[in-house]
Amino acid sequence: MLQDNYGRQFRYLRLSVTEACNYRCNYCLPDGYQQEGRPSFLSLTEIRKIASAFAQAGIDKIRITGGEPSIRKDLPQIIEAVKATPGIKTVALTTNGHRMEKYLDDWVAAGLDRLNVSIDSFDPRMFNSITGHDALESILRALDKACATSIGTIKVNTVLMRQYNLREFEDFLSWIKDRPITLRMIELMETGDNKQFFHDNHVAANELESSLISRGWQRQIRAKSAGPAKEYFHPDFDGRIGFIAPYSKDFCSSCNRLRVSSLGKLHLCLFGEEGYELRPYLDDPEKLIHYIHQVLGLKLPTHYLQEHQSGATKHLAMLGG
Ligand code: SAM
Repeated sequence: MLQDNYGRQFRYLRLSVTEACNYRCNYCLPDGYQQEGRPSFLSLTEIRKIASAFAQAGIDKIRITGGEPSIRKDLPQIIEAVKATPGIKTVALTTNGHRMEKYLDDWVAAGLDRLNVSIDSFDPRMFNSITGHDALESILRALDKACATSIGTIKVNTVLMRQYNLREFEDFLSWIKDRPITLRMIELMETGDNKQFFHDNHVAANELESSLISRGWQRQIRAKSAGPAKEYFHPDFDGRIGFIAPYSKDFCSSCNRLRVSSLGKLHLCLFGEEGYELRPYLDDPEKLIHYIHQVLGLKLPTHYLQEHQSGATKHLAMLGG
């Protein structure tokens, strides 16, 4: 079992497979992905080795993320490889959904268990102004199709922005009235590249939580090992509302995840250091597992986002959120 010096246990790995993204989200990559040098993203073979070592160390869930993971043509092979790793029970994918209509069947056939789709607005014009794309309708169609597949859990991630989608909150609620989907509102996080945007747009989740509670939404009790998201349900709604509120007190005490970047570095926090190179150890699983344990001993109790310190993270496409 992977455990840090503060008693937090880790069964969940977020594995980024590319830094590149086809979207230009205003809070993340407003000018689009700018390649620096000639990055060498993890190969399928390297992904297999990493998944296997982490599984042997106690990880049982791997989320494939990016950048935009569906940019990789071998995404179905990646899903299949992770799924085939002894010890891995759950393979999840986080995507902007742009290529979902075309490739969903391949992802399902490869064994995908969980799907998170990022949709920051249900208004096509607003969606375009946030992401730079006119893809909302295709994404929503694909999402409805996904609900009818063997994928067990489907979530939609929405980053809250005061000057953009906050006014759509009631529409978000209507959307989950008859859909068994968890809509997760993510607090905008400050990164190296978005300081002014963060200042203008950050909305604290508790502003919305108190409004939901006053309207009969109830907090779902979740195991501490389920991670830092909070979830609310309402008897009149098929869907649920979740909140990821990294600025709230004690957020980090329930941290349950580790991250590996597409460049093969282990990151102990989304807002931490430059990462620890795993590539030199990939051909020696024992050494690799030993190194992972050793590095985990360096994990700090908390991030310092409240003090506006976002570490080495310029934008979340670097690490996969
Ligand atoms: N391209 C995929 C997607 O769109 O889901 C995966 C990568 S993306 C970096 C993962 C998640 O991080 C998305 O839900 C995105 O909206 C969120 N994200 C990116 N930058 C963020 C920020 N500054 N604050 C909060 N969430 C952010």
